[in-house]
Amino acid sequence: MLDAVVVGAGPNGLTAAVELARRGFSVAVFEARSTVGGGARTEELTLPGFRHDPCSAAHPLGVNSPAFRAMPLERYGLRWLHPELPMAHPFLDGSAAVLARSVAETAASFGPRDAGAYRRLITPFLHRWDTLLRDFMSLPLTALPRDPVTLARFGLAGLPPATALMSRFHDERFKALFSGLVAHTIAPLNGFATSAIGLVFALAAHARGWPVPLGGSQSISDALTAYLLDLGGAVHTDYEVKRLDDLPPARAYIFDTSPTALARIAGFGSYYDGYRYGPSVFKIDYALDGPVPWTAPEARTAGTVQLGANRTEIARALRAASREDRAPDPPFLITVQPSVADPTRAPEGKQVFWVYGHVPNNWQGDLTDGIERQLERFAPGFRDRVLARATAGPPELAARNANYVGGDIACGAVDGLQLLLRPRPTVFPYRTPHPAVFLCSSATPPGAGVHGMSGHNAAKDVWRRLRRR
Ligand SMILES: Cc1cc2nc3c(=O)[nH]c(=O)nc-3n(C[C@H](O)[C@H](O)[C@H](O)COP(=O)(O)OP(=O)(O)OC[C@H]3O[C@@H](n4cnc5c(N)ncnc54)[C@H](O)[C@@H]3O)c2cc1C
Repeated sequence: MLDAVVVGAGPNGLTAAVELARRGFSVAVFEARSTVGGGARTEELTLPGFRHDPCSAAHPLGVNSPAFRAMPLERYGLRWLHPELPMAHPFLDGSAAVLARSVAETAASFGPRDAGAYRRLITPFLHRWDTLLRDFMSLPLTALPRDPVTLARFGLAGLPPATALMSRFHDERFKALFSGLVAHTIAPLNGFATSAIGLVFALAAHARGWPVPLGGSQSISDALTAYLLDLGGAVHTDYEVKRLDDLPPARAYIFDTSPTALARIAGFGSYYDGYRYGPSVFKIDYALDGPVPWTAPEARTAGTVQLGANRTEIARALRAASREDRAPDPPFLITVQPSVADPTRAPEGKQVFWVYGHVPNNWQGDLTDGIERQLERFAPGFRDRVLARATAGPPELAARNANYVGGDIACGAVDGLQLLLRPRPTVFPYRTPHPAVFLCSSATPPGAGVHGMSGHNAAKDVWRRLRRR
């Protein structure tokens, strides 16, 4: 009898398995696909020698993750590469606001009227970042907060909608960049606690940057897997779990799946019926014949580049995808240029380039033209650099990974109470109606992103229970 079986080898499933194995429990992971990684993988999607990330590419949450930082992942090949700038937000006049490692450089890019306000907003939290992040990522309280006062202050700043926080600033430069940060989780700008999303991304940049892993996101998954195997754990691929009976006997079962799939597999009936899925994305991976010809110089050295001319355009794009059930025009784009920091991703002189724009859940159309028209506004001549492209809309994303229901890359809408209390309003989100079955995917707090903290928190619930028995 194994101590624990994990279903799904995404970052959360692998983290949960490692956390249990390093505490002496016997663990086996079962993954539906032929390779590990879930949303952290790398593949030659276009041409030979071009190594693309079909899902995650930039890792502000990964490099800052308390779970990953407590593991010797560098020993297993994980190396974070930092572009000169973590993120740039160019404007149509050829200038850009930036998220730099330095708070002063970032504040200066917002203009003289907003620089001081930004410094005053960020600096107190930055001084206590490691404790704050660990406390925030353990909500709803799987661990007692180490610094409850800072967490409460962060709550005061973060719980209001992003629109309220932005009203403290004067100019478009901060507002556009901050709206873009909130849009990374496809949250509406006027939604509950959306200020916290923008603040976490900004603080993460100042604390440890927005790096890409050497060789691509697969190296995060490979490092977690190698560490797990060294600890005595086992990983089985090409093994889709359809029923609990498909799994070997174990004292605990931990699912890195959607709540809907878990309900089907474990026979939980309508237990998760209230859980809502959110908008999707249309993703394009490009093989380029050289760098993106950005007009704004800052964008040429940034790992991540956000594209939305102003706050109104970004808000309209988010609304179209999440509330109006139509493709945005123009779409708000998040782009990542791993080749800026990692020359191993493409043949010499060439680049890989990663882009997505938001679309409604289960949208069936093709956004390639809309995305490239938006790119041409900020990088005229972009299309001339394209050697090949691989596109994936909601149906393809859902087919690649069962967790992306209708193509929702966050495995559940990031709005309303569901932003913090997922998959149900409870203080024990990792538990299920069955005492030996747990959920650890990004449908549980702290939600989407490659950080492994849902897996860490769920594993903590499991190891406490296993020890008690
Ligand atoms: C296009 C895209 C871009 C993204 N960009 C970023 C980014 O830049 N930075 C970032 O931090 N995050 C990003 N994300 C989000 C991030 O990838 C996810 O939030 C993260 O991977 C979630 O981890 P997870 O372990 O919960 O689930 P997943 O990574 O989805 O892994 C779940 C695993 O479980 C397996 N599985 C599911 N059902 C079964 C079953 N029945 N039997 C066996 N195995 C099963 C799946 O095959 C999969 O391998 C992006 C995601 C996408 C799709």
